[in-house]
Amino acid sequence: MRASRFFISTLKEAPSDAEVVSHKLMMRAGMIKRIGSGIYTYMPMGLRIIRKVENIIREEMDKAGAIELLMPLVQPAELWQETGRWDKMGPELMRVKDRHGRDFAIQPTSEEVITDVVRTEIKSYRQLPVNFYHVQTKFRDERRPRFGLMRGREFTMKDAYSFDRDVEGLKKSYAIMFDAYTKIFNRFGLQFRAVAADNGAIGGSGSHEFHVIADTGEDALVYCPTSDYAANMEAAAALPPTTTRAAATQALTKTPTPGKQRCEDVAAFLNVPLTQNVKSIVLVTEAKEGEVATKQVWLLLLRGDHELNEVKASKVAGLAEFRFASESEIVEWFGSTPGYLGPIGTKKPVNIVADHTVAAMSDFICGANDVDFHYTGVNWGRDLPEATVADLRNVVEGDPSPDGKGTLAIQRGIEVGHVFQLGTRYSQDMKATFLDENGKPQPIQMGCYGIGVTRILGAAIEQNFDDKGIIWPTALAPFEVVICPMGYDRSEAVKAEVDRLYAELTAAGVDVILDDRGERPGAMFADWELIGVPHRIVIGDRGLKEGKLEYQGRRDTEATAVAPAEMVAFIQ
Ligand code: ATP
Ligand code: MG
Ligand code: MG
Ligand code: MG
Repeated sequence: MRASRFFISTLKEAPSDAEVVSHKLMMRAGMIKRIGSGIYTYMPMGLRIIRKVENIIREEMDKAGAIELLMPLVQPAELWQETGRWDKMGPELMRVKDRHGRDFAIQPTSEEVITDVVRTEIKSYRQLPVNFYHVQTKFRDERRPRFGLMRGREFTMKDAYSFDRDVEGLKKSYAIMFDAYTKIFNRFGLQFRAVAADNGAIGGSGSHEFHVIADTGEDALVYCPTSDYAANMEAAAALPPTTTRAAATQALTKTPTPGKQRCEDVAAFLNVPLTQNVKSIVLVTEAKEGEVATKQVWLLLLRGDHELNEVKASKVAGLAEFRFASESEIVEWFGSTPGYLGPIGTKKPVNIVADHTVAAMSDFICGANDVDFHYTGVNWGRDLPEATVADLRNVVEGDPSPDGKGTLAIQRGIEVGHVFQLGTRYSQDMKATFLDENGKPQPIQMGCYGIGVTRILGAAIEQNFDDKGIIWPTALAPFEVVICPMGYDRSEAVKAEVDRLYAELTAAGVDVILDDRGERPGAMFADWELIGVPHRIVIGDRGLKEGKLEYQGRRDTEATAVAPAEMVAFIQ
């Protein structure tokens, strides 16, 4: 590629709404352009990276035996009603009507459509196992779209769905995907960790998240440096009981009367002083009606200055009370982003929900205004399993580990992939069956596997940057090598060597860009350091006279002299 024929548009300053480093750098490097909240145009420079991510994913998915198809963006509501998700998903599911007034969902994921494909196509056990995937645009009307591509509303995901005849088969398909994910993230050249994740109603160890390790990550990961134990915070909270846990459980064995209650009554029940500052009470739980809550959080929202960061919230788990001084403390406490807080004092429901529990919380409860407190029949207060929110708080660095092989450490990560054993959750609702050897219909066992394609870009940058800009791992870089000529249009010798090397690198399959824009060296170097191209070659008259080209890796502090004839081998 010649820079003069490509589109390069860099900025000295990031726009003021960019909060995190990856968002700032991607904006400055001209990789994305904001069109609306959480909605971006992928500019040519950004799209090249997205394509590299997608190619690696496709290659490894194909190798793992998954088969690519492409499911529609706009999906009929009827399918979503069959599984109940049309009602359960809440406002994150984007709904549209056609000219006839019929309802449609813009897909946030595609379990329903793929299950529909499979129930009509798969008849016999002979057709199983099968794994279908696509790389497709998703839309989730996130409560707080932010951090650029990290939490967009429109984004690209690779989602795969496996179908098996029995649980054993499902576990095999899951292991194959787990292995493929490991290969994919290794090929990206990113430091990552797979952690056990909570999989709510399904139980067992049927879910893992893949996280790119970064100090700025939203999620807290608990792992043991001397063993294989690794889990996200929620899963880590399901550790064997401790004394604190037992005490908290005991404290929660009171049962309030279900139904609509007044703040005062709830406060009395919780044994917390209710001052006039209390604006609403929120119960966050992951249990559905009739299920036992494994975690519950009470939040008393106190009147603040209507400013997010000044809102003070206190939580009560058992009879203990904690206060949050800031939103970041809540983030810390949940191990994830809380949902949108406030504005306090309006009649609008105030929901504080850790994003990652949304799917599991079909019936989460929120206090709507000053006095009314609503909740639906969660079986809380009785038969509480050991893991309570208080324990979650108690998972700290240095705790003995659950497998008896060391002590726990905590690090932060960005969720870039999620694999999940769904079992018959969807096939039962949608009657996706196959005929077994005896001609008997059986429900199909299903797994689902997602990778946040566009989020990978943000995560990679959060892990790899310096004060000059982005540092791409070679596999993801928009260009692997940049040739910077000193006087391309002035010196025949420079032009000849630049053209020769450019042709040779191209022939060797290296993704090279030749900066023939005629920029001054300082500006040219600053652009490529910002964009994050991992290898730079400078070619000028002075070096050529000495028979040398100048090579500098993006992380190198100094240039290395390399003979022209050796450069291609040196780069590879
Ligand atoms: P999060 O906890 O960050 O909200 P999630 O658990 O809701 O993510 P999944 O349903 O597991 O997401 O989707 C699979 C993958 O899609 C995630 O692991 C993540 O990489 C990506 N993803 C999810 N939401 C977004 C988003 N709003 N923007 C970009 N990527 C996303
Ligand atoms: Mg989410
Ligand atoms: Mg999540
Ligand atoms: Mg997830």
